[in-house]
Amino acid sequence: MNDFILFPPFPISFIPPPCISSSSQWEEISGVDEHYTPIRTFQVCNVMEYSQNNWLRTNWIPRQSAQKIYVELKFTLRDCNSIPLVLGTCKETFNLLYMETDEDQGSHFREHQFSKIDTIAADESFTQMDLGDRILKLNTEVREVGPVTKKGFYLAFQDVGACVALVSVRVYFKKCPFIVRNLASFPDTVPMDSQSLVEVKGSCVNHSKEEEPPRMYCSTEGEWLVPIGKCLCNVGYEDRGSSCQACRAGFYKSLLGNVQCSKCPPHSFTHHEGALHCGCEKNYFRADGDLPSMACTRPPSAPRNVISVINETSVILDWSWPEDTGGRKDVTFTVLCKRCRQGQRVCEACRSNVRFLPRAAGLQNTTVTVGDLLAHTNYTFEIEAQNGVSQLAPTMRQYAAVTITTNQAAPSPVTVIRKDRTSRNSISLSWLEPERPNGIILDYEVKYYQKQEQETSYTILRSKGCNVTLGGLKADTSYLLQIRARTAAGYGASSRSFEFETSPDCKYRSDPTILYTVEELMGKGVTLISIIVTDRFCGYSKSKQPDEKRLHFGNGHLRLPGIRTYVDPHTYEDPSQAVHEFAKELDASCIAIDKVVGAGEFGEVCSGRLRLPSKKEICVAIKTLKAGYTDKQRRDFLSEASIMGQFDHPNIIRLEGVVTRIARGTILVILAPHASFCLFSPGKPVMIVTEYMENGSLDSFLKKHDAQFTGIQLVGMLRGIASGMRYLSDMGYVHRDLAARNILVNSNLVCKVSDFGLSRVLEDDPEAAYTTRGGKIPIRWTAPEAISYRKFTSASDAWSYGIVLWEVMSYGERPYWEMSNQDVIKAVDEGYRLPPPMDCPAALYQLMLDCWQKERNNRPKFEQIVSILDKLIRNPGSLKITANTSSRYYTHLHLTFKLSTLTSESHPGSQHLIQVLYTSTFNLQALNPDL
Ligand code: AMP
Repeated sequence: MNDFILFPPFPISFIPPPCISSSSQWEEISGVDEHYTPIRTFQVCNVMEYSQNNWLRTNWIPRQSAQKIYVELKFTLRDCNSIPLVLGTCKETFNLLYMETDEDQGSHFREHQFSKIDTIAADESFTQMDLGDRILKLNTEVREVGPVTKKGFYLAFQDVGACVALVSVRVYFKKCPFIVRNLASFPDTVPMDSQSLVEVKGSCVNHSKEEEPPRMYCSTEGEWLVPIGKCLCNVGYEDRGSSCQACRAGFYKSLLGNVQCSKCPPHSFTHHEGALHCGCEKNYFRADGDLPSMACTRPPSAPRNVISVINETSVILDWSWPEDTGGRKDVTFTVLCKRCRQGQRVCEACRSNVRFLPRAAGLQNTTVTVGDLLAHTNYTFEIEAQNGVSQLAPTMRQYAAVTITTNQAAPSPVTVIRKDRTSRNSISLSWLEPERPNGIILDYEVKYYQKQEQETSYTILRSKGCNVTLGGLKADTSYLLQIRARTAAGYGASSRSFEFETSPDCKYRSDPTILYTVEELMGKGVTLISIIVTDRFCGYSKSKQPDEKRLHFGNGHLRLPGIRTYVDPHTYEDPSQAVHEFAKELDASCIAIDKVVGAGEFGEVCSGRLRLPSKKEICVAIKTLKAGYTDKQRRDFLSEASIMGQFDHPNIIRLEGVVTRIARGTILVILAPHASFCLFSPGKPVMIVTEYMENGSLDSFLKKHDAQFTGIQLVGMLRGIASGMRYLSDMGYVHRDLAARNILVNSNLVCKVSDFGLSRVLEDDPEAAYTTRGGKIPIRWTAPEAISYRKFTSASDAWSYGIVLWEVMSYGERPYWEMSNQDVIKAVDEGYRLPPPMDCPAALYQLMLDCWQKERNNRPKFEQIVSILDKLIRNPGSLKITANTSSRYYTHLHLTFKLSTLTSESHPGSQHLIQVLYTSTFNLQALNPDL
């Protein structure tokens, strides 16, 4: 805050002579500020007399909707040492008090009805010399009062003998102001007095609909947080900032959603606002499936350049695309066949047996073959180009026509042949006349041969009619046969080959013999196969089974040569083998148990001391397993030691050893009686002994020391955690439950990562919640991909690190406050991220945001996090730039209000209950920067 300079300074006579007795000594005095703007101050300076009790009271201030009130005072205060001849009565403080009432009590005033808010002292007092330099030191102090519940209140300033000038008083409360977010409006909301957030439902703005119910939270600081859900502009309306506005004429919007209105497509228009789609111009149309975004179109013009090539009774028609496709791509062609008899003007439709290849309608190519026409006949073909809107405009349809005459033609092939009778040496057949005889059939030619002779020798017969009997054939033999018709125009094409068999001499043996053989074979085969499979399987499983214990490397990362890799203790068949591979067995008589310091999932956590032979005594934490544990609990409990024992890093909690057996006659030292909780069941004793961390878990440590650390101290702690995590990720260990509650702090503020284990970690964490896919996950700390498909990696640990960073910078605040887990998942998925904690350096907030990248490969590696924090530590000035918190809003209860100076009856010598000496109005506007 800048010093406030008053010109001219108060004259020396500002210090009043010690003469006032009964009435209040507050005086309203005019002055000017450094800009020569006139201001009014209230001053009192009765430092020469004992027992001062001078009151200054505001008028009644209606509370409005405030729950918690802030009072900002600006004042100057004279340093007692600088006042000559004071008799030891001079004070350097005054009191701020308040009283709540439901109505204005006018000038009634009783001192004892006021409650004290605080004693106000100056950060900067001024001396006579300062006055000589014409500088008065202006102090600004803010106090909170709340919850306030009555309709209004008074503030009062009690002077008990200081030399003070009150320059301005500003009274305000905080609120989340009316706002439109995601097209939903949220009303002015006053935050709760307590720490909790207020959930507010938004209402969709005019001409919009809810996509998902819009909600936001109002924080105690008057900030809107975590927008969830949204509204979408109706059809015909577009999103213009914070409202949905109708599309202008010539524009349309056919979909619900926050897209902009589009210009009407070609050949369409709207003359009104808010159009859902545009109408078509005259002679332009939209087909049923056409989207509103498509241009209006019209039927195509006629095909061009029709060419016909006649081949006997068929014709190939070929044409060019129409000049105008009507603006569409779905052009097809339809060919209409008409038979025109000579001398007749009106043509008739062709017989239905005329064949079109590939078809008559819906042709996509510009050619068609028309067959099975009559020989020597006139035909007219009308070829029409059509598109998706041709049906809508029958009068606009156009076609091209061509007339042809077919030639003489041979008969078409015989297609239907029937076997009437067979014997050992003969077969009788009959057939139907060809579909298109193209003239009078003179006779049929029947050609046949033995199938196995492949047409090398054949026999030909001629028949006038449509049947024949073939004799002299071999018994039990296959024959092939073809028939063709003959007219004056010659032979038609042959029919396809027709196969028949003459009857056999005798019967075959029945099939079951074969079946039997197959079954037998199959039986053997099955046995054979299963033997092979089993054999192979067993052979494989015995000889090729990998040594899983050695191959299982956490998350499967490729490890750098030379760096030790974490070994999952669960891959050991016997967990006590793992624990003894990685942890030292301690002699219980070397441990002295001191007191209980915490409660773990499996039993008490105690502090104590460990003195190993020829080693210095050290403080240790001793984790114990409750009596009556199951085998699984013992395994899980010890798995933490097996994991911890593999690590050796200053920021990872160090394992001293385990106690899994106690020799008979071992003496256990218990230093305090209540520490006997730490005793395990005598049958199978289990203890995990780690280094002792005097300050316990980081979350409770931060809450206990709210706002007490410097930026550098906090960054130092964070650097330690990041360094521990870098070590773990290099080892291939994924923590999965990194959170401030799982970090321990020692007496030197060194932070160490703790709480290891695999499934155990999450099962035991009270923050862990079941996800829809099953399994418990500490939602608020966990990366989205780990929540949705259990993709736990060092990158998901980096996300959690970002949350720990936020917890540290907000001194143990709960991430996402009281939001439900479901809301957290949704908000994070929609891109919401936690806001910067109060006074958080911008560089640290940026690091948090980087750790919370949705794409996990974009998150920083722990290596990078450590180096970022190292840079900040080397350059502490960079911590001074704080992240912008979103603007906060304050509502002023009274921009200006009257102050009344009062004396109360209780004051010695006072005549009246209340005596109003004078009232004055502060010039508050000039001093009232609106936050
Ligand atoms: P844990 O079962 O590891 O979550 O531990 C439960 C509680 O015991 C922690 O929250 C700490 O308060 C305390 N505690 C655990 N380990 C230690 C330690 N090494 N030094 C000091 N306190 C510890």
